[in-house]
Amino acid sequence: YTASTETHDHLEMGATWFGFKHEHLKNLLDELKLDYFKQFQEGESTLVFNSMSPPHHFQADTSAPPSYRIANGSEALIKSLAKPFNDKIQLNQLVKETTDCGDHIEITTHNSVFKANNVLFTIPPRLAAARILFNPELDNEIKSAMQTTPTWMEQAIKFVLTFKKPFWREAGKSGMLISQIAPVVEVYDHINYSNDQFALMGFVNPKLKEYSTRERKEQVITYLCRYLGEGVSDYLEYKEKDWSLDPFTAVQASGENMQPNYGNSIFAKPYMNDKLFFIGTETSSVFGGYMEGAVYSGKQTAAKIIANMDS
Ligand SMILES: Cc1cc2nc3c(=O)[nH]c(=O)nc-3n(C[C@H](O)[C@H](O)[C@H](O)COP(=O)(O)OP(=O)(O)OC[C@H]3O[C@@H](n4cnc5c(N)ncnc54)[C@H](O)[C@@H]3O)c2cc1C
Repeated sequence: YTASTETHDHLEMGATWFGFKHEHLKNLLDELKLDYFKQFQEGESTLVFNSMSPPHHFQADTSAPPSYRIANGSEALIKSLAKPFNDKIQLNQLVKETTDCGDHIEITTHNSVFKANNVLFTIPPRLAAARILFNPELDNEIKSAMQTTPTWMEQAIKFVLTFKKPFWREAGKSGMLISQIAPVVEVYDHINYSNDQFALMGFVNPKLKEYSTRERKEQVITYLCRYLGEGVSDYLEYKEKDWSLDPFTAVQASGENMQPNYGNSIFAKPYMNDKLFFIGTETSSVFGGYMEGAVYSGKQTAAKIIANMDS
């Protein structure tokens, strides 16, 4: 999600980057007339192998395809997609049960019941398997696929630090730090589209998961002061998000952090007599895990449903 503080907007606590290879996402952003901009990476970047040897400094490879950020944060995409349907979208409805009623499906939430001809489930599969009751029960094959499909990045702890000045850029640094030792694994420049709100954004080493936020923050600041400069200690705010604690994303602390194999073909089939579809990025055969996968699976399934309506 995209967060704000008193002084800064558009701080990405979750999805942040895309590339032009993510063509469905890029086309959608273009169609919705949403701006995007290149991830800043000019100047000296730092690679830390271990605490004993000096850090390695390098310039980012400018010939590599760049990563882009959405101008007003990834929430701009969600807001823009939702805009025409704002009066129809029901927020804060916790889905608990999905029942096949023959000619329709009933979705039971914590306080309402909804009826639908078609249901597109975008809830991450493993979360849906753990939290939602399907009547009748789904068959073992799809249940097992759901249970073994982790939600991408659900173990990540992301942080942002906001500043009055971009001290790293002023010192000729890109703000990028890649580290193989605790407490920070990656840091990037996170200055906004209009270049007037200064921030760094990164990932805390998941080994610090058991620490308190205050302890993590102290370790992150001390570490970054050492490698990016004392300017780090003049931060305005430290904000973090431990995704493994988010009950609408993560199911269990399984320790998987790598990108699993997504797009199990079992998710391409409809269920409950062609009324229930599992979509969302983890079901996507194209860039599963990424925003691109979510857009792709949504478009594919919408096209299938529209084709069925027409036939
Ligand atoms: C830390 C982090 C960094 C990431 N960085 C990037 C990146 O740089 N680039 C990129 O392309 N992708 C990134 N991603 C992945 C990106 O966030 C996903 O690809 C994208 O959000 C998938 O969209 P989705 O619609 O499939 O699922 P989600 O965005 O997970 O949406 C699922 C929705 O279901 C809701 N939900 C869950 N349970 C229930 C329930 N019982 N009832 C009702 N609603 C429910 C949730 O609240 C949520 O709104 C990142 C993810 C994380 C966690």
